[in-house]
Amino acid sequence: MSIVHEKPAFSKKSSGVILKDVTKIFQQPDTGKDFVAVDHINLEIQDGEMVTLLGPSGCGKTTTLRMISGFEYPTSGSVLIGDRDVANIPPNKRGISMVFQSYALFPHLNIWENVAYGLRVAKAPQDEITRRTNEVMEMMQLTGMEARFPNQLSGGQQQRVALARAVVIEPSVLLFDEPLSNLDAKLRESTRDELRALQKRLGITSLYVTHDQSEAMAISDRVVIMKDGVIRQQGSPQDIYERPNSRFVANFIGKANFIDGIFRGMDGEAALVEVGGHTFSVPVPGTMEGVEKDESCCLTVRPESVLLSAEEGSLPGVISRATYYGAKVEYEVMLGSQPIIVEVYNPQLSQRFVEGDQVHMTLIDRCVRVLK
Ligand code: ADP
Ligand code: MG
Repeated sequence: MSIVHEKPAFSKKSSGVILKDVTKIFQQPDTGKDFVAVDHINLEIQDGEMVTLLGPSGCGKTTTLRMISGFEYPTSGSVLIGDRDVANIPPNKRGISMVFQSYALFPHLNIWENVAYGLRVAKAPQDEITRRTNEVMEMMQLTGMEARFPNQLSGGQQQRVALARAVVIEPSVLLFDEPLSNLDAKLRESTRDELRALQKRLGITSLYVTHDQSEAMAISDRVVIMKDGVIRQQGSPQDIYERPNSRFVANFIGKANFIDGIFRGMDGEAALVEVGGHTFSVPVPGTMEGVEKDESCCLTVRPESVLLSAEEGSLPGVISRATYYGAKVEYEVMLGSQPIIVEVYNPQLSQRFVEGDQVHMTLIDRCVRVLK
């Protein structure tokens, strides 16, 4: 699938979004107790930016989207769209389009009418409805499918219709709630890439919700990691992956090893951490929040940032598992009683180890972070 790459079919009306200290408390229907679904979040999405809310199920992502769209009302705090507080503006007047996992197409309308729907509701003149609907149909490579009905399209095509329907009304903000979850893995990747290309080309401010970390990495200018209604970290995909501020974030984005050590103080910019009698000098230690001198901390290192050798390295270990994946070999190496995951890419180029081999590990020091 590829979407025709032409200049935007219509004018740009995009605008930024600001959440100021937004909290949402639900009363649980069964117990009657208050439940804080979104807890004092502050978030700014720049005009034209693509931001992803990433977090485990139930962390408050959908609730956050619904407060922006106007289907849910914050318990406290405010939502601004294009510098305007939208507290008293109903959902259909906020200039927002949403795309869902379930596509939410009208089964009794053909594809053309599904795409045109928002313009009809907005009572646009007929010639404008025709022109814009045709333009968006073409842009989304749906030309030729006008007369079909949603159940006559594949999942990927239905999602393109849903996206066409969302952009045809020239929204100032696009909201996506796990839109690719119903697609199989291959189609999910290609649709994801097309969606990102379209978002960039139209320059529409977008907030994208997912629990899939690779989707978030691939699609976003900025990733916002949520847990239990709280924003735990935000930054570019690279920032978050390379400089996680907590074990939760390090684990949620990619894989991470946490090696127990003792923090022995700073040497200039570098943190000195003792592990099993060896002192590591970590040149870019990261945030180090809550890490106290001569107390426990952990060295956080990604599996691809550990090198294995038969002869040399700072940490001795024993291979307890070796799994061949083609592009890489994944080893589990026992450091005392602690398993360390090591990924070796291009396995043809390096020495192969088998279960029971004695090895030495070297941590690439620029890639190590120190966390509490
Ligand atoms: P996510 O989209 O991250 O999976 P949600 O925002 O849908 O999470 O939900 C966050 C939490 O708020 C969940 O624990 C959910 O059960 C709760 N919740 C959501 N909507 C309501 C509601 N209308 N009434 C009560 N609790 C709700
Ligand atoms: Mg959700």
